[in-house]
Amino acid sequence: MAVSYTDERDSFEWDIPAAYNIPAVIESHADSFGDRIALRFLDSDGRRAERTYDDLRRDMNRFANALESLGVEKGDRVIHLLPREPDVFAIQLGALKRGALLVPSSSMLKPKDIEFRANDCNATTAVVHESLVGMVDEVRDDTPLERFVVLGGDADRWTQFAELVDGESDRHDGPALAAEDPMSINYTSGTTGKPKPVLHRHRWMRCFELVNAPYWWGVTADDDLSDELLWATTGTGWAKWFWSPVGVGLTTGATQFVYAGEFDPGTFLNIMEQEEVTRLCAVPTQYRMFAQHDLGSYDLQLREALSAGEPLNREPIEAFREAFDVTPRDGYGQTETVALLTNYPGIDVKPGSMGKPTPGLGTTIIDEDGAEVGVGEIGEIAVPVDSPGIFDGYYDKPHLDEQTFHGDYYRTGDLASRDEDGYFFFEGRADDIIISAGYRIGPFEVEDALVSHEAVAEAAAVGSPHEERGSIVKAFVVLTDGYEGSDDLVADLQAFMKAETAPYKYPREIEFVEALPKTSSGKIRRIELRSQERE
Ligand code: ATP
Ligand code: MG
Repeated sequence: MAVSYTDERDSFEWDIPAAYNIPAVIESHADSFGDRIALRFLDSDGRRAERTYDDLRRDMNRFANALESLGVEKGDRVIHLLPREPDVFAIQLGALKRGALLVPSSSMLKPKDIEFRANDCNATTAVVHESLVGMVDEVRDDTPLERFVVLGGDADRWTQFAELVDGESDRHDGPALAAEDPMSINYTSGTTGKPKPVLHRHRWMRCFELVNAPYWWGVTADDDLSDELLWATTGTGWAKWFWSPVGVGLTTGATQFVYAGEFDPGTFLNIMEQEEVTRLCAVPTQYRMFAQHDLGSYDLQLREALSAGEPLNREPIEAFREAFDVTPRDGYGQTETVALLTNYPGIDVKPGSMGKPTPGLGTTIIDEDGAEVGVGEIGEIAVPVDSPGIFDGYYDKPHLDEQTFHGDYYRTGDLASRDEDGYFFFEGRADDIIISAGYRIGPFEVEDALVSHEAVAEAAAVGSPHEERGSIVKAFVVLTDGYEGSDDLVADLQAFMKAETAPYKYPREIEFVEALPKTSSGKIRRIELRSQERE
């Protein structure tokens, strides 16, 4: 990339056309380069599929027509539960083109989760893969759902996707869509409690194109993308899918790779090598597992590696640098936002930092009274409310809006500090901060130091109630293969920690566990460990 990110940042302007919407972007890509491959798909059985931008346009319009014939109107909620499949883009784009409000949901949801979401946002249409219809059938009568479309096969009382789109026109004359029209209700990951319904407008995708694409992925729609292959390993129901596969891949007209199969570090590395992936976006759990693997035996074409969703530890950053000469670049944001902080292309990465504010958002750190804090001080990450790159509110949840929108700022609930060079450092979610003998301790710092010990594969630190100190730092540790938990190892790890971090942060208690409690998107749920400690 020839642009200088520092110069461009200074002259950044939001350019969001009033009629912006992602289906129109696909129409325009198909007009300009219809035979470019949008999607290269592979699954764990070796099944392959490809979709060009022409294919996407055709399939999007056919599905929009099909939804119209079922009676779906502008503003109706269409919920989907789909594993990674070649037709997912067509389904998402088709529903949007019909003017529906998309409710992306993870294929890992259980019946009670589906019931909660469908009722919470009043979803009337469900598009579900055949392997998951049973989950919906269990609760369908307790929801407002009326229309049921099954992808991939047949199911009793479900309309088959393939039949539905067969013979539909390749054009859809649907409702006019505007950048400020509601686009989707994305539920948050539920790391700290019940998932929250985030209402986004079509401009969200444009903001990704203007921010995430250049200032994180290092691509723009004007680049020659012919030798690029983007791979974001996320699932179709998460905000991450809209952050990257839709928000960067489709908006810029890139070619992207989607793999349907379980995560396994060796498999994923083989695939990266064989498919010649040039830009990868994965989550820290995956990077931590890559780092446990022998990276030296892979010959990758990788140019950029990105991480988001949780703090990225130093260890995988160093492992990737050494093996591939690529520095994983962390980025920070939420279901509610675009990337607020990134290690943008070309930045001098300081391991442990989430990077610097992206242009145009005004991301800063404030104290409880809403005043910006100084260098080195811990406060809450916040974004001015009038920034187009954040949502306008939760769907039908005024009490949640009240908790998060304060005066001039949207408060993220995440604590951080900033150094003299403007780099942000994650301290933890406000709820996860451990207060021990008057000290405020961010769990990430403890975990990051622990993981740098060769015996530790993963760790989670929480406060455990303690009579004198209020709470003490307790670490739950998953050991690397070949190590076994013992009192000696506890003592070793504690001595190691006292040397690595300020002594008041060392874990006074260490418990060895087989696995850490996680959300289905792979985030550590400290809330579960905390409540376990309280009992
Ligand atoms: P819920 O809001 O339901 O508790 P969640 O906040 O995990 O779930 P997401 O919107 O998927 O739902 O995740 C956003 C959160 O993930 C951020 O608020 C932050 O806590 C964490 N996060 C994201 N990126 C990073 C990062 N690079 N470093 C540290 N934490 C991150
Ligand atoms: Mg959240």
